[in-house]
Amino acid sequence: MGYFHQQERVKALAAIDGLPPLREVIAAHGLSAKKALGQNFLLDLNLTAKIARAAGDLAGADVLEVGPGPGGLTRGLLAAGARRVLAVEKDARCLPALAEIAGHYPGRLEVVNGDALAIDAAAMLAPPIKVVANLPYNIGTELLIRWMTPAIWPPFWQSLTLMFQKEVAERIVARPGSKAYGRLALMVQWRAEAKIVLHLPPEAFTPPPKVSSAVVQIVALPAPRYPADAGVLARVTAAAFNQRRKMLRASLRGLAPDIEDKLRAAGIEPTARAEEIPLEGFCALARLLAG
Ligand code: SAM
Repeated sequence: MGYFHQQERVKALAAIDGLPPLREVIAAHGLSAKKALGQNFLLDLNLTAKIARAAGDLAGADVLEVGPGPGGLTRGLLAAGARRVLAVEKDARCLPALAEIAGHYPGRLEVVNGDALAIDAAAMLAPPIKVVANLPYNIGTELLIRWMTPAIWPPFWQSLTLMFQKEVAERIVARPGSKAYGRLALMVQWRAEAKIVLHLPPEAFTPPPKVSSAVVQIVALPAPRYPADAGVLARVTAAAFNQRRKMLRASLRGLAPDIEDKLRAAGIEPTARAEEIPLEGFCALARLLAG
């Protein structure tokens, strides 16, 4: 069924949770989209229900949602049976609309008015915790990096179901040998399973952004795929990909005087380029450099 055809079903679903359609909510509360806050809203409740489903079984889980806006995805999460949703929203204009949803699902939705970068949301939730969000694009990558680099592993979250610009989503799931492969792919795939579960055209949002989007599902592994020190691995991949066109013996020269020997010991040709090296190779090199 095409996207616009699906719009026909929006009213039916809105009737299911008994709350008004999102266009009415936006009009009633004067929620004109602010570009500076990355406000591109999802108004199709079938679509937000689909994103909620992509997060897996929500019954019995606490959900952290960043940037609920007028609450389309929040409604999808609650209708899908989330035990509790903690929604962190910077724009105070959205609070009355979110309060209406909270009233409809007593005790299940808590809204915090603040900056997701400044709030310790994990402390306010009980495991198992899933993060589901249509992220503001300006802070999406920063939040992902924070969630992927906690002091201890496994992290506070079980899974992350996140909307990104398509290009960022492709960098997260990229495999060796592709242009999109780099630090983000290695950081995520070292300790998690990542896949794109949904592609969305600009028209799926109001207002439509310039770029296409994709939802990425990231599931935390109990332990890293290959042993390595997180800090050393980050330094190696930063040096390797900051000069991705150079041979590794040149880009990594600053890390050790005998870098060529260490590369060979890790099973990597010193003349290879960063893009060709799988995760396993970078982890082996990080272990040798740490030792
Ligand atoms: N979840 C809604 C939806 O799907 O329609 C809105 C998504 S919109 C892409 C991003 C939301 O994040 C906006 O509501 C915006 O106000 C909010 N936001 C922007 N920066 C934020 C921040 N630093 N902390 C929390 N929320 C933020």
